[in-house]
Order: sequence, then C-alpha cells, then structure tokens
Amino acid sequence: MASGDFHLHSTASDGVNSPTWVVERAAANGVRALALTDHDTTEGLREAAEAAARLGLRLIPGVEISTEVGKADVHLLGYGFDPGARRLQEFFRWQREGRLARVEKIVAILREHGMALETRRIFEIAGEATVGRPHVARALLEKGYVASVQEAFDLWLGNGKPADVNREKLDPKDAIAIIHENGGVVFIAHPTYMGDDYVEKIRLLRRLGADGIETYYKHYAAEIVAGLASLAKELGVAASGGSDYHGLGNPDDRDIGDISFPDECVDAFLGFIDAQCACSAIEVPA
Ligand code: AMP
Ligand code: ZN
Ligand code: FE
Ligand code: FE
Repeated sequence: MASGDFHLHSTASDGVNSPTWVVERAAANGVRALALTDHDTTEGLREAAEAAARLGLRLIPGVEISTEVGKADVHLLGYGFDPGARRLQEFFRWQREGRLARVEKIVAILREHGMALETRRIFEIAGEATVGRPHVARALLEKGYVASVQEAFDLWLGNGKPADVNREKLDPKDAIAIIHENGGVVFIAHPTYMGDDYVEKIRLLRRLGADGIETYYKHYAAEIVAGLASLAKELGVAASGGSDYHGLGNPDDRDIGDISFPDECVDAFLGFIDAQCACSAIEVPA
C-alpha cells in the first residue's frame, strides 16, 4: 500500500462512497496524504477535510477536469488551488451545467435503441453530485438493460460506443490556465487513456503548461511506470500517483492506496505541491 493517493472520487461526483468514507478508508489502508479529485467540483472537500483533520491525514485540494485534444479525451487533475476562488467556482459550475445537457442527449440516444430511461431518474441517482456516465450506467442496471455497470460502458457508454456523447469541447490550455491563475498546478491524469500517441500528447500538454504526469496510476505495469517516470524527468515535470477509486467494482479497479507509488516519490510530489501551490493543504477551523 502507498502512503499517498491523489486521485479519488466520492459521492460529490460519480463515486459510490461519501467523502468521509473515502478518507476513513484511506487512513485504514495506511495512506497519510490524499486528494479528493471529484469531476468539476470541490463540494466534497469540506466533509473530507473534517475527516482528514480528525484522522491526522493531509488533504490537498483537488479536482478532475475533462478536456479534449482532437478526438482524444484528456483528463487533467488540478491540485493546490484556492478552493474559495470565485472565478474557479464559476468555471466548475459552468462545466457541471454542460454535463446536464449531455445526459439529456445520452438518454435520447438510449431511447432510440429501445431503452426507456428517465432523465429525472438519473438526476435523482446523482443527487447533489456532478452527474456523469456512471450515473447513467447505474440507471441502465436498475432497469435491467445491462447486467453490470461495466457492461453499460462496454455496450453503450464507453468511448466510441453509441451513447458516448461529448460535451462542449474544453481546450486543455484553458483548463490549465484557470487552475494556474488560482494558485494550483495541473497533472495529466491516466496518460495512456489519451491513445497510442500518448507520449506526443504529454509533450504537447507540457508545452501548454502542464506541471506533472500521473505516473503511478491504478494498475499501471512497471514498464509503463518506468516510461512515464523517465519522460517526466526529461520534461522537468513532477510525478503523481492515484488509484482513481470510484467504488464501482469494475474489473481493473484498485482499492484506495493500492498503487505502486514509492514513498520517496510521494514525498517528492508533496514537496512539489508545497513549493508551487497557493493552498497546499486544507485547514479546517477547530
Ligand atoms: P464522465 O465524467 O461522465 O465522462 O464519466 C467518466 C467516468 O466514467 C470515469 O471516471 C470512469 O469512472 C467511468 N468510465 C469511463 N469509461 C469507462 C469504461 N470504459 N469502463 C468503465 N468505466 C468507465
Ligand atoms: Zn469518474
Ligand atoms: Fe479520468
Ligand atoms: Fe478520475
């Protein structure tokens, strides 16, 4: 188990477990420092910060933002920004609104394929959270149209599948700029998901201002990690690690902290955050 995990989802977006549960699980697994990186929201931070303070864990402000380069999904992780910044919160709200319209489109496509989902039910499942494809998957499962959340992605919702609807394209340059303007740094999430040319895309994102690479991701094999670590070194950027825990129970999923992220690399990442960020840990008033 690693001492740090900086890619985690909760019920504030499309994770299954509450922020408190996520922090408690992290502590039980031996994690000492973490970041909640819900999609387009910091709504889980306050609750997570209270749990982290109670258990003596360090919590770094975090968020995951979806952008696009060409046809490839490029997910960015923001860390250490000022979560109270108004412009940043407006940006997150705008991103979340884009997700609402997208769910309507996904539901329309699924209806064309004979699956009668109610948009209302999906929003009910999501509750206050940032709505995403996993909520649609759960609605499909509930109605018996698929046998599992994974099957919903494999047949309908996954990248390139019939009901995979893109939101309005966000340029990574703009996402990077807004995180930088608000005191944070930006890491490239699960880099291999960007496609076969992910090394070129990493170089491009570096030119656009990305500060680091999520090198120790979930189930990455040692060769992938070694390649990303040497690329980070060559480009002079930092390396992070995370499990991308959602609690959905998909086949490749890892438990919180169950990643091969060496302690010295966790420390190097934390040192980078300390040196670069406006808000390198969240303090909760006593
Ligand atoms: P969204 O933010 O709505 O695009 O949904 C992205 C989330 O869907 C990711 O964080 C994953 O949890 C999940 N997801 C995306 N693609 C797949 C897939 N092929 N299989 C399982 N889960 C997926
Ligand atoms: Zn997610
Ligand atoms: Fe992602
Ligand atoms: Fe994620």
